Amino acid sequence: MSFSNVTKNIYRSSSLIPWMKQGYLNSLEIVKAQGHFIYTEKKQITDFTCGAMVVSLGHNNAHVQNSIMDHLKTGIAYVPSNFSTINRDYLSDRLVDLSNFPKGKVLYGNGGADANEMACFLAQEYQGLNNKSSSRILSFQQSFHGGSTIGASLISGDARRVTKSKYYCLPWEPIMPNPNWLDNGESSLEEISNLLDDSVSGILVEGSSGSAGCILYPEGYLKKLENLCLEKDILLICDEVMSGFGRTGFFWAHQKQDIKPDIITCAKALTSGYTQLSGIILNDRVSEVFQENPVMCGLTYSGHPLACTVANRCLDLYLDNDMILLDNVNEKSILLNKLGNQIANKYDFVKEYRNNGFLGCLEFNLPEEKLVEVSNLLLKNNIYCMRIRHNIFTSPMLGIDESLLEESMNQIDTALSQLEN
Ligand code: PLP
Repeated sequence: MSFSNVTKNIYRSSSLIPWMKQGYLNSLEIVKAQGHFIYTEKKQITDFTCGAMVVSLGHNNAHVQNSIMDHLKTGIAYVPSNFSTINRDYLSDRLVDLSNFPKGKVLYGNGGADANEMACFLAQEYQGLNNKSSSRILSFQQSFHGGSTIGASLISGDARRVTKSKYYCLPWEPIMPNPNWLDNGESSLEEISNLLDDSVSGILVEGSSGSAGCILYPEGYLKKLENLCLEKDILLICDEVMSGFGRTGFFWAHQKQDIKPDIITCAKALTSGYTQLSGIILNDRVSEVFQENPVMCGLTYSGHPLACTVANRCLDLYLDNDMILLDNVNEKSILLNKLGNQIANKYDFVKEYRNNGFLGCLEFNLPEEKLVEVSNLLLKNNIYCMRIRHNIFTSPMLGIDESLLEESMNQIDTALSQLEN
């Protein structure tokens, strides 16, 4: 029996690559990966952004791989979410515990965008069921909450929303000003307070800003935002898709700012990239209304049994040894800050280094063609750092040691020193 008639000689790629002009692409083919490294046939490349802040536990992790094998032995390919599986329900219990949401509930999706869109929808439903006619969800002017769904795109405040906003008009608006550091965020909070009228049902904020540029919150900023939400009966939704699972040295980044959102969304490192899965974690105030009212959203793969098994094993690893991985992030981020700032001070074309734990970026003051050159030089120096427009990210795996961290930042430094004027 022959299982495949696919040609073995792939001479052209028929894949459409997200966010890129296809004409300029010459993707490196990755053939294997191990720990902090990805490999082409000829090169070892340090994966210094966990892909896209996904593979926090590293490549080729035997514990995670074993969980996949264990799941396959059950024989279950898939069951719809009206059936229960032990791994899904165990995962939900753990996620509500970690979020300190007693009696909370978790709904699952496939990725960050659908999690955020469903979270906004559930928030709107919640307010509607409580006889509030409010339907708008606000977010920051510089933010990213996903690009694959209309809702998530329109609530994102960065350039990736522009093409879609031409065609749609929905009550999802990235109009909250990002914190103004000159006055510790006070003026922006005042502006936000004026925006939060009766028409607003919720606000969506990242636990710690990620791909829109790691814009830091002043200390106490989210707490003040939380108080505004409480005062005005607005739900606070916290997007931990990029910042969750220890990336900032806390399990959830918002815990660093000592707040309690009503809804948390997560994806990416939930499964460390071994499968797709996202979660929408609701506190009991929100979830309670769905005891007597249907949840009017969901996906074929909500709570996929394999993905939930993998996520449980990843949680074992994040929580192992009293969250020793998170201690590593807190400890090594001091070095990362130091080295990042040294690079920013050394080159005129680097505007700033901003970092929280292991979620940081160098912001460049360069035209597009030079930025492409920076990305190429990094690869030439055997390091991969995700680039989004003028930001190059530094977000290594949580268990990185000091010497690899130093070596990686040196590779970045060397690459930048090779940039021609
Ligand atoms: N939310 C945040 C904070 C993100 O950084 C991203 C992706 O980078 C998303 C949502 C969207 O996630 P996905 O690409 O899985 O839809």
